[in-house]
Amino acid sequence: MTQPELPSAEHDTQLHDALNRYWGYREFRPLQRAAIDANLQGRDSVVVLPTGGGKSLCFQMPALVRPDRGLGLVVSPLLSLMKDQVDGLVASGVSAAALNSSLGSDERREVYNDLDAGRCRLLYVTPERLVGNGGESFRARLREWGVSFVAVDEAHCISQWGHEFRPEYRRLAELHDDFPDISIHAFTATATLQVREDIANQLALRDPEFLIGAFDRPNLNYRVLLRASLKDQIRRVVDRHPNEAGIIYCVSRKEVEKLAGWLDELGHRALPYHAGLPDATRRRNQESFLDERVDVMVATVAFGMGIDRSNIRYVIHAGSPRSIEHYQQESGRAGRDGLEAECILLYSGADYARWRQMLEQSGELSDTARRLLRDMERYAAGSRCRHRVLVEYFGQTFDRDDCTACDWCLKELERIADPVTLAQKILSTVVRTGQSWGVGHVIDVLRGRTTDQVTARRHHELTTFGLLAEMPIPELRGYVDQLTQQELLLRTDGPYPVLQLTDDGVAALKGLTEVALFRQPRPTPAQRKRRSQGDPAAWDGVDRGLFEALRQCRTEVAHARGVPPYVVFHDNTLRDLARRRPTTPQELLDCYGIGARKAEDLGPIILDVIRDFQGKGDTAEPDDLAPATSP
Ligand code: ADP
Repeated sequence: MTQPELPSAEHDTQLHDALNRYWGYREFRPLQRAAIDANLQGRDSVVVLPTGGGKSLCFQMPALVRPDRGLGLVVSPLLSLMKDQVDGLVASGVSAAALNSSLGSDERREVYNDLDAGRCRLLYVTPERLVGNGGESFRARLREWGVSFVAVDEAHCISQWGHEFRPEYRRLAELHDDFPDISIHAFTATATLQVREDIANQLALRDPEFLIGAFDRPNLNYRVLLRASLKDQIRRVVDRHPNEAGIIYCVSRKEVEKLAGWLDELGHRALPYHAGLPDATRRRNQESFLDERVDVMVATVAFGMGIDRSNIRYVIHAGSPRSIEHYQQESGRAGRDGLEAECILLYSGADYARWRQMLEQSGELSDTARRLLRDMERYAAGSRCRHRVLVEYFGQTFDRDDCTACDWCLKELERIADPVTLAQKILSTVVRTGQSWGVGHVIDVLRGRTTDQVTARRHHELTTFGLLAEMPIPELRGYVDQLTQQELLLRTDGPYPVLQLTDDGVAALKGLTEVALFRQPRPTPAQRKRRSQGDPAAWDGVDRGLFEALRQCRTEVAHARGVPPYVVFHDNTLRDLARRRPTTPQELLDCYGIGARKAEDLGPIILDVIRDFQGKGDTAEPDDLAPATSP
């Protein structure tokens, strides 16, 4: 394998110049430099960075600065992902192309001409093109073009332990036969140790460097709420984000349709997305969301991979996902631009029973699947910092006492005064009803409901009957979930799960064990305000009016060019422009995310918008500048 020497100071300047010139950024994010250096040294690597961590730059930049000027080959699972990246690169002045089935014959010829002439720096392809039918002759062409390295994006697709397994990814190790001397670099956002090692093994990487980023996403605000009045709960979040992007994940297609229709009636720009919709409708809906013609996507998990929209301000789960991996991946689509965003899980203990049943029916209820579900259930009912739980789940340590961005650290969960007595009422009802009833029946007894089953079993004669008559069902269900999560209660598997006491539960019933129970109050306005300001600096000094004017301009440019708005500029670039209000091309270059090419290309339009806006005398005084997300 070739190991080019890295002249350090010069090399450093060269990389920073490229970062500034093409991307308009000043500094590398954590591990980007290390990942780029691994590439330049020809050392195989596995790079795990959280969503929004800046993985693409790690393989895009080497293609620009490698001394051999060879082609960087990027393997990507989705056409939409490729298109966004290629559009973004071209807009920044980098010669890049994608070869895939969506190209017309003229476009394809153009790409081949560029490749033959050595004009292309980065080529994006699907794994099928490389190792599927016709892969051999395509690889022969690649040899002629001179490939310098291979980057495998979304590399967790290679692992059957991962959650998006794609069999073709497994065959990528065959690339070693055709390109024995080049390095291979795998990139993913989701990887437990097992998946990470699987990636390295399946790709037959040679002594790879593992670069594992910090999993914490401090700009994401996590909250878990018991699902009570779902529409009210959703509405409160959506209303906090007028004209901002959000995704609402539902478990069933029916629910997707219902909620999308309801939001639309309320006047929100919302569309549904699920696998049952005709292909064309699904594609259209996705494009509308990416083009910012629609704000809210109500979807099943079919919607996800390849969603590169960077300014998603909230992700709501209307039901629990089946694993923390899924939750991290789906909620992680919020706030890729690093600005504050909310991730809200609305769950009920019944979600897990439903998952078990569904997985059992599809033959997927393995021990691993059960464990993943239990971990997710623990996260939901948990009473610890959410950031900490997620970070530790992925094998990292969390070294802050207070994340200031989750329901637990914001003290939205209230410790109830006498948890032992409340726990004993619940545990004792489980025992008195014979440990053979589900949560619904136990709640009926505690609330004093004389259902047919209650009277048939004479459970209305129990001493615990009606002990919690005043307590709302979701609240009571929440305590049962917490007792399950604390392993005082156990919910059996199977289609009709029943509650039973564990040994610790028996001890708690006798008052021999500590119990802590928490209530979820409605947040006060003060708490809401703190929550919405994950990064208060992000809106400091930003002129909202100008931000909107620039946003409008971005939409027009994007539509005219047929690319999504975030390919033109990210929200943080708009905020920085609306904060600094540059008036000269030189000042433009000081703004976040504006490199030489963008300044040249879009500078005149941007400066016009700013000039027009200021001419109208429309600018607000700094004190009037309020973030859109504040209540
Ligand atoms: P990932 O693929 O890891 O989710 P992306 O490559 O899409 O992340 O990058 C996320 C966002 O961060 C993009 O808007 C990207 O332009 C931006 N970004 C990447 N590197 C930097 C950097 N060094 N400084 C500032 N912004 C960056």
